[in-house]
Amino acid sequence: MQSLNRFVLHGGRLWSMNNGGYVYIDQKVLETIDQYRQIETKVPESGGFLCGYYKGVNLHVIDLTVPQPKDIQRRCAFQRLDPKHVDQARDLYINSGGKINCLGEWHTHPEKNPTPSYIDRQGWNIFNRNRPTQPAIFLIAGTQEVWIGAVKY
Ligand SMILES: [Zn+2]
Repeated sequence: MQSLNRFVLHGGRLWSMNNGGYVYIDQKVLETIDQYRQIETKVPESGGFLCGYYKGVNLHVIDLTVPQPKDIQRRCAFQRLDPKHVDQARDLYINSGGKINCLGEWHTHPEKNPTPSYIDRQGWNIFNRNRPTQPAIFLIAGTQEVWIGAVKY
């Protein structure tokens, strides 16, 4: 199992990565994720793709996909099964002339300070195997804190 690099928060929407680059996340993306935080006890996990640009060693997240009807949403599990996630990411890629890529995944956890689960790590390893040439980022929104990082090579 590969280990994980947690990025360091560098201001409200900027995280520094271990490669010297930064992840910058647009406010509207974080505001959308905020709406899915599991602050109330019956709210299930949510998730989707993070989409944006690679700029050298930096990543700029400008859009995301959100839960769709065919996804599985439980209090402590989210499975991104609905093909609309892939369709929307593909549309962003095509409509931007290949500039906007799927950069990674986000999901929520019903805990204040979230940490990746074993299942999260397994899923991220599969995600990385399917796109070996580009770094992918993973975000977990807890009820208070956000975990954001990458699988370490
Ligand atoms: Zn998780």
